[in-house]
Amino acid sequence: MSKKKDESETEKEEARIGVFVCRCGINIAGVVSCPDVVDFSKNLDGVVVAEEYLSYCTEGGAREIKDAIEKHNLDRVVIAACTPKTHQPVFQAVLEDAGIPPRMLEFVNIREHDSFVHMHEKSVATEKANELVSAAVARAKLLEDVPTEIVDINSSVLVVGGGIAGLTAAIDLANQPEIEQVVLVEKKNTIGGRMAQLDRTFPTDDCSI
Ligand SMILES: Cc1cc2nc3c(=O)[nH]c(=O)nc-3n(C[C@H](O)[C@H](O)[C@H](O)COP(=O)(O)OP(=O)(O)OC[C@H]3O[C@@H](n4cnc5c(N)ncnc54)[C@H](O)[C@@H]3O)c2cc1C
Ligand code: SF4
Repeated sequence: MSKKKDESETEKEEARIGVFVCRCGINIAGVVSCPDVVDFSKNLDGVVVAEEYLSYCTEGGAREIKDAIEKHNLDRVVIAACTPKTHQPVFQAVLEDAGIPPRMLEFVNIREHDSFVHMHEKSVATEKANELVSAAVARAKLLEDVPTEIVDINSSVLVVGGGIAGLTAAIDLANQPEIEQVVLVEKKNTIGGRMAQLDRTFPTDDCSI
């Protein structure tokens, strides 16, 4: 057995993972049995603590996670909640506040990928949540921190295409303090691209304009 394998196995044994199952009011808890997912999680290898809470993306929720990190000396966190697209940065900030590198977060979506799509099959939804959490815990054990390196960049940026992707990229870039200038080029005489041709959009039903 190689030395590298020995080291990774030691890391695995030492992982101290906390699992936090968000009820999201009734959005998740109305379908998935959160207490069952918590009980299931407690028996997974590497899991030191598993808890559930009404809404982890609130001040109270962040405090619950930070208290558990401190109390149980956690070094990895699994959040079972909604979409990482919007909420992963929220919980990465919570980890950072608690002194854990943000990359030690594993995020699993038991709302859009589970309670929303299996709302009429509650036991199946709970089983799926267990499987998603189990996979997230297995992956969390292998997580390693990747330190962030700051590098010099070109401070003028050209964005080609004024659709939603180009507009969002241009705004995000313009809000970065290190970017001096953003030039947005659109070949048509109006911006907005495909989105500007739509009325209301899935999933939020927002007016697309
Ligand atoms: C019927 C329909 C319904 C949809 N419903 C939804 C929905 O409900 N919810 C949802 O989230 N999404 C929906 N979508 C998808 C969504 O509209 C698209 O994913 C999104 O608009 C794509 O944005 P984009 O910026 O990537 O591309 P585009 O909107 O295609 O924008 C690209 C822009 O780049 C410009 N461009 C291209 N080449 C050049 C060039 N060489 N130089 C300069 N400019 C250039 C184009 O003129 C255009 O303005 C729907 C799409 C369709 C067609
Ligand atoms: S973290 Fe996500 S799942 Fe939990 S309450 Fe907030 S929005 Fe809902």
